[in-house]
Amino acid sequence: MPTLVICTGNVGKRKEIEALLPEGVRVLVPEDLGIPADLPESGVTLEENALEKARHVHQLSGLPCMADDTGLEVDALDGRPGVRSARYAGSARDPQQNMAKLLEELAGEEERGARFRTVIAFVDSGEERCFEGEVRGHIADRPSGEHGFGYDPVFIPEGGKVSFAEMDDRTKNAISHRGRAVAKFLAHYRQRG
Ligand code: IMP
Repeated sequence: MPTLVICTGNVGKRKEIEALLPEGVRVLVPEDLGIPADLPESGVTLEENALEKARHVHQLSGLPCMADDTGLEVDALDGRPGVRSARYAGSARDPQQNMAKLLEELAGEEERGARFRTVIAFVDSGEERCFEGEVRGHIADRPSGEHGFGYDPVFIPEGGKVSFAEMDDRTKNAISHRGRAVAKFLAHYRQRG
């Protein structure tokens, strides 16, 4: 059975990605291989970070590795928090604090357009590739919903009225930045056999 390592310590990401992978693929995460889940992310772009994480785990394991790096880019904040989304409100990477800071920065702002962007890096022996997915939407006035993770309670995808956190994983995956990036990755993964 082919093995694929999803290079993340984020349970929400893992669940969403795993739900999209074909049956018959053995999925591992770094901790299954004794690799600490806190992976290096020293880049200044999503692509650099995704590649860094996948390369790191591939070097240690020799296995095919995929890593996801995601950012929330808000129009009125010139694309911030972007690549700094996880640590927007500080090194604690606390989603509640991150959302609170975002809502505070956008207080009174009518232009609330934003997008989520995901880059998935795939690294195997002699191969490195990146796949990108994005979804546009806007930042709500207040959080709503209990599903998902991170900024999901404040992100309302285009064409809808509810936040990602008000959707189940399947509904979010069908339209999300990550779902779109994984679909591109899978087209490649299937075709390489
Ligand atoms: P990273 O890709 O793990 O660096 O995540 C960047 C930040 O964006 C973290 O604060 C995550 O919680 C958040 N994030 C990543 N993906 C999503 C998502 O699909 N929905 C909401 N927040 C997300």
